[in-house]
Amino acid sequence: MTAAASLRTRVAILGSGPAGLTAALYTARANLRPVVIAGVPAGGQLMITNEVENYPGFPEGIQGPELIDLFRKQAERFGTRILDDSVSRLDVKHRPFRLWTAGGTEIVADSVIVATGAQAKWLNVPGEEKLRGKGVSACATCDGFFFKGKELIVAGGGDTAMEEATFLTKFATKVTIVHRRDAFRASRIMAERAQKNPKIRVMWNSIIEEVLGDASVTGVRVRDTRTGQVKDVACGGVFVAIGHEPTTSLFRGVLDLDQVGYLKSVEHTRTSVTGVFAAGDVHDHRYRQAVTAAGMGCMAAIDAERWLAEEGMEGPAEETAGAPAAEAARAPPAPRVSAVSGAKG
Ligand SMILES: Cc1cc2nc3c(=O)[nH]c(=O)nc-3n(C[C@H](O)[C@H](O)[C@H](O)COP(=O)(O)OP(=O)(O)OC[C@H]3O[C@@H](n4cnc5c(N)ncnc54)[C@H](O)[C@@H]3O)c2cc1C
Repeated sequence: MTAAASLRTRVAILGSGPAGLTAALYTARANLRPVVIAGVPAGGQLMITNEVENYPGFPEGIQGPELIDLFRKQAERFGTRILDDSVSRLDVKHRPFRLWTAGGTEIVADSVIVATGAQAKWLNVPGEEKLRGKGVSACATCDGFFFKGKELIVAGGGDTAMEEATFLTKFATKVTIVHRRDAFRASRIMAERAQKNPKIRVMWNSIIEEVLGDASVTGVRVRDTRTGQVKDVACGGVFVAIGHEPTTSLFRGVLDLDQVGYLKSVEHTRTSVTGVFAAGDVHDHRYRQAVTAAGMGCMAAIDAERWLAEEGMEGPAEETAGAPAAEAARAPPAPRVSAVSGAKG
């Protein structure tokens, strides 16, 4: 749909990945006429994913962008309004909540579902971006199956790297963990489990300087940080396991975040501000899968719908944003935590 100057809705949903679009489907079918602010680029992490083989219902697998297109069409079928824009500022201090997009639209919403996802951190070395989806991955659970019988490299030294390396030994003939220091950051139990695995070896004090290959990964160029010596190591795939960055800068000082910046939930999908809910990878650093994000989108939608009903707000809101005074007159009590954000997302 085209951007309007002002939109009024019962539910504003930030994000159009699996979590946001599933929340949209459920709130649309609950007759709440949600507005999704899709984000730029729209569609989330599955837009940079080729084959998705583990989303139930697609026995032959499906391309990530095609799956998102189906999610979007299904949400729109029940009346979801989708803005291809991103939220640059929000006020959840007063009800109804107000959100402003980079494109100049103001959205007045009785509830908000945050589904802004997370980004995998990459090495940012030559060859890496070009070979993403062609041997470079950031998700062993998603892509490990494609690497049967190959020798693999895992970059990282934390728990995620240990977990990814151990998981990949189910498919690979050999897994080499390349770590820039002489000791892992990972918990002792995880590090020991990985190091005891006969298929895993470690290259200490080493950094990947380049991912090699044209059509697909053929190796990595590694530098020893102590000697400066550079050598090429042949491999059939590279898994980057140096962490994820939740997309929460917009919510700093607005919603409670955990130590590493993920949205904290207070009860189920409720955040620290009453009426604001969280779903998907923006809240979940454990599972990080399309199906779990979609599941959380469903949970947040049901929680939002029930909360709106408790507050006496059932059915769609008036279509245009009301005058602030009139809105204030029928507004429920102020949220538990006061917050205004102007940070960029
Ligand atoms: C390379 C790769 C391959 C993967 N393969 C698989 C796989 O095979 N199977 C699987 O199950 N999972 C896979 N995953 C993981 C899966 O993609 C994620 O778990 C899932 O996409 C998370 O969904 P989400 O809706 O929480 O967030 P995301 O998909 O990250 O979507 C976040 C959305 O929020 C939007 N947004 C951000 N900021 C704002 C803002 N300020 N205003 C409005 N919108 C905003 C973004 O534009 C985006 O639309 C893969 C991930 C990657 C990176």
